[in-house]
Amino acid sequence: MNDYNDLRLEIPSYAYIALARRGMEKISLDQCFLPNCDNEDVNLLEPFKIEESEDEEKSIKKIHIKCKKCNGTYILKLETLKKVAKPKNSNDEESTLSLGIVYILDENGKNLGHLGYF
Ligand SMILES: [Zn+2]
Repeated sequence: MNDYNDLRLEIPSYAYIALARRGMEKISLDQCFLPNCDNEDVNLLEPFKIEESEDEEKSIKKIHIKCKKCNGTYILKLETLKKVAKPKNSNDEESTLSLGIVYILDENGKNLGHLGYF
């Protein structure tokens, strides 16, 4: 049973890429990240599987996405580091720091690179 709409909700709309000298660039995650593919049409991207894992330090979601333009499959790996430092005596959710990192993997799980932050 697949519910593509639910899987889409798991994908952040944007990631931020650190540029060497020019700060951060905001890019859309609604595009195919496979080499030699320029698909930026979200309707041609079909998330079909999600794997989730979690440990004390981070939670990881791997979202498998099929591109209907190049017929390739890639994996968006979303790694969320849990609160690095939480102030004592604070119940304020917003004071909890977390950091999300996006990696792109190919369909065999080979790391194609650290994309950015979300
Ligand atoms: Zn593609």
